[in-house]
Amino acid sequence: MKISRFEVIRVALPFDAGRTPIVASGARDAYNAASPELRRMETLLVKLTDEQGREGWGEAFGHLINPVTFAALAGPVGRWFSGVEFLPTMDGIAAVRDAADRALHAFGRTGPVLFALSAIDTALWDLAAQAAGEPLYRWMGGKRETIDVYASLVSYDNDPDEVARQVQRAARAGFKRLKLHETEHAAIVAAREALPKEIALAVDVNCPWQVAEAVTRVAALNGIGLEWIEEPVWPPDDLDGLAQVRRQGVPVSAGENASGVAGFRQAFASGAIDIAQPSLAKIGGFTGMREVIAMAGEYRVQVMPHCFYYGPGLLATAHVVATLPQTAALEVPWLQWPTALHVYQHAVPSMRMPDLPGLGFQPDAAVLQEFTIDRAVLV
Ligand SMILES: [Mg+2]
Repeated sequence: MKISRFEVIRVALPFDAGRTPIVASGARDAYNAASPELRRMETLLVKLTDEQGREGWGEAFGHLINPVTFAALAGPVGRWFSGVEFLPTMDGIAAVRDAADRALHAFGRTGPVLFALSAIDTALWDLAAQAAGEPLYRWMGGKRETIDVYASLVSYDNDPDEVARQVQRAARAGFKRLKLHETEHAAIVAAREALPKEIALAVDVNCPWQVAEAVTRVAALNGIGLEWIEEPVWPPDDLDGLAQVRRQGVPVSAGENASGVAGFRQAFASGAIDIAQPSLAKIGGFTGMREVIAMAGEYRVQVMPHCFYYGPGLLATAHVVATLPQTAALEVPWLQWPTALHVYQHAVPSMRMPDLPGLGFQPDAAVLQEFTIDRAVLV
């Protein structure tokens, strides 16, 4: 198989998080999902076309760093893959990825170079599964035709009443598993108390606390019934700190900010986490994701992939979840989209996997064109 066309597309789509609108100051309008000023969310897409006209899609991380990842894709990383030939098998992709990793390793084993490789890797797996005529999860040996989805709420600014209102709104939509992005005890407890016991609640705090404070705060949450506490420690690679927090009785998750596959190897060896959260668009696509899953199996750590994506990264993560045990669910941003890029973008409590060969990502051409903010083509 030969890549005959390499396209990079940066898209920004309006969304609604159901919160009180704040007049945006402009410059921060597309920073990250936690900001109440944010009204559009970006996705950075790669489309690879082979000589038969098949189109493989991938997504790269993300948000504020998108212009840098875009430059890597439109520049040296994309150029390496333009015109590349590979066998459309798992071994064939492994060989081309290994060659690319060796050629590009000096430019960073994580960060925007790895984010760019993640999108390309995802598109290569999409193309190979299309050539094999199978949906990607089945090509990887996955059996789950329907997967659970958990609603990942944006931050509602630690306002207990607002947080309680929002979790009830998600519960009414049928979600059995939810995740907050709040840090204050009162807001977290308000969410837990607003929900029936059978609805699982996790909390993502996004690396706010030094170890001593994290230990105190997480110990205070022990017993309220959280599914996990996500990234409780600053800096995110303080693995001994995470291991200390783990001893407070609340399961600890992390991994979206791991420094590549090597970062997970260290996290597992340090006993730092109960739940590993590799992020497909950051960790090296399916290749990196599958390495982490294999390692997690050796250490008997559960895998619950990170996914705050709405483009091909969302579908690709769904295919990964479909290969994992029933306990694994797909994270989906709990947002409303006035205009959707594709049919799988709207968050629903359980998702039926696509039947099409490959990822099954079929963007609406008119929406894609209307909301594209930057584009590059390499041939
Ligand atoms: Mg997170």
